[in-house]
Amino acid sequence: MRLTAIAGGTGAAKLLRGLVAVRPRHELTVIGNTGDDAEIWGLHVSPDLDTVTYALAGRLDAGRGWGLAGETFRCLEAMGDLGAETWFNLGDRDLATHLYRTRALREGVPLSAVTAELCRRLSVGARILPMSDAPVRTRVRTPDGWLSFQEYFVREKAQVQVLDVEYAGAAAASPAPGVLESIREAELVVVCPSNPVTSVGPVLALPGIADALAATRGRVAAVSPIVGGAAVSGPAGELMRARGLPVSAVGVAAAYAPWLRTLVIDRRDAALVPELAHLGVRAVLADIVMTDPERESALARVVLDLQPSLE
Ligand code: GDP
Repeated sequence: MRLTAIAGGTGAAKLLRGLVAVRPRHELTVIGNTGDDAEIWGLHVSPDLDTVTYALAGRLDAGRGWGLAGETFRCLEAMGDLGAETWFNLGDRDLATHLYRTRALREGVPLSAVTAELCRRLSVGARILPMSDAPVRTRVRTPDGWLSFQEYFVREKAQVQVLDVEYAGAAAASPAPGVLESIREAELVVVCPSNPVTSVGPVLALPGIADALAATRGRVAAVSPIVGGAAVSGPAGELMRARGLPVSAVGVAAAYAPWLRTLVIDRRDAALVPELAHLGVRAVLADIVMTDPERESALARVVLDLQPSLE
């Protein structure tokens, strides 16, 4: 089965782990968000690509949901001693990834090639594609002005009011090599349970992506990151509100209109099924909160078993 997943970070990592637990890894292509990439201490950090890479390599810190398991932060401490900014947590071993990536990018290697090499070195098995080789930066407007996504999310701990969100550079950025093909040629495209505004939104803002999703002959399904009236974790609710979307599975469906055909929602949200049908989206009820590997695999099976004949 040719399987393509559109992914942010922590929520996506869990479903992707489930997918490779039940399908051969080589069947999976992941299109990763780079809208929240940042330059920290002169290094190019790609938080969502790294979360997905580490998850599929079996090296993600399960408790935090980001970074490497068994990590230490001695370099961060030492940078603090030097008066450098320390709000973005870079672990000692994680730093190797950023050093490796930054050097390659400075030598002119595209991000997609660096990402492929990191996947090979870390024995990921699946293909991970950055959404674009060109820089796209998600920015958040607050009452005090525009912040980069990481300034908003990590430095301000998402505790400031969001008035607007933009994807700087997206309109002029081409999808990375293989991205559009992997959507068009997939038998199943799954939009992971990721933040619709700041993880999936930047991917959708690239030219050609929404058209490819609308035109693909494969099934297109998403898993809701919202259960009841709130995100499972993180600021997706606040960001959806800022975009004028209801904070519910209905808001997720609205964010993915008009190409979304199937949305996997939590059993507790069964009352939303008629409203979703009204939007042209078939709802499938499941247990969508993944708290252990069994639940990750179980949800992956639900997604893989969706019946195309019902769409
Ligand atoms: P990040 O924001 O860059 O870490 O990455 P994501 O966008 O992939 O992850 C955050 C989103 O995942 C949030 O909107 C959460 O509500 C959602 N999420 C996290 N864990 C789960 C889960 O177990 N199930 C579901 N359905 N959504 C989840």
